[in-house]
Amino acid sequence: MDAESRDYSAERRRLVESLIAEGILRTPEVIQAFLKVPREEFVPPELRDYAYDDRPLPIGYGQTISAPHMVAIMTEELSPRRGDKVLEVGTGSGYQAAILAEIVKPEGHVWTIERVRELVEFARNNLRRVGYDRYVTVVHGDGSLGLPEHAPYDRIIVTAAAPSIPESLVKQLKPRGRMVIPVGGRYYQVLKIVNKDESGNIKVSNSVPCIFVPLIGRNGFSEYEF
Ligand code: SAM
Repeated sequence: MDAESRDYSAERRRLVESLIAEGILRTPEVIQAFLKVPREEFVPPELRDYAYDDRPLPIGYGQTISAPHMVAIMTEELSPRRGDKVLEVGTGSGYQAAILAEIVKPEGHVWTIERVRELVEFARNNLRRVGYDRYVTVVHGDGSLGLPEHAPYDRIIVTAAAPSIPESLVKQLKPRGRMVIPVGGRYYQVLKIVNKDESGNIKVSNSVPCIFVPLIGRNGFSEYEF
């Protein structure tokens, strides 16, 4: 079928139904966001027809848009609420940021930080085209340091693999805030859930095993170490 006649919304619905059947998508707000945000607008044009395959896709510069099931798991674990201030580290295509914006808008806001300048532009264009630029601010920089100018955040999501939980990010989380972050080696990690209580104490638990591209930065991996 050519791209013009393809019914992406039917494909989107089928993918969401299968993620619900697998028990991965559970919360009505998250399900609604997945039904609304067009993943085909966040992949390179030549890969649009693969947008509803449940797998990561290349977006250039050695980076990927995460697989839908991983975005679903992370969003469910993060449990963002309408009105939340959210920080995402690792903008990539802007898709995860759009899913979060759909949940926290109109009072909430998503700040998302990306180290590859070309991807900052790619994500900004994608978000503008689908109307999420009012609710998402894309910043160029080293997200392993967080984004102190807008802290503290209700929720922090890191979509690249960190060697450990950066203290800078923990500091930028509000009391009763939550962070999800893949932690481990360069090639294999565990998704960690970090909860900060009322008094600022931290509790960390493990979610699923995962594989992310590395978080490269001051509190991440070195660009040159392999
Ligand atoms: N969330 C993205 C999406 O929805 O398309 C996918 C993110 S991709 C798996 C990880 C991204 O993290 C890459 O775009 C990479 O360039 C970025 N990244 C790696 N280290 C970073 C850092 N220190 N600060 C900001 N972004 C970083």
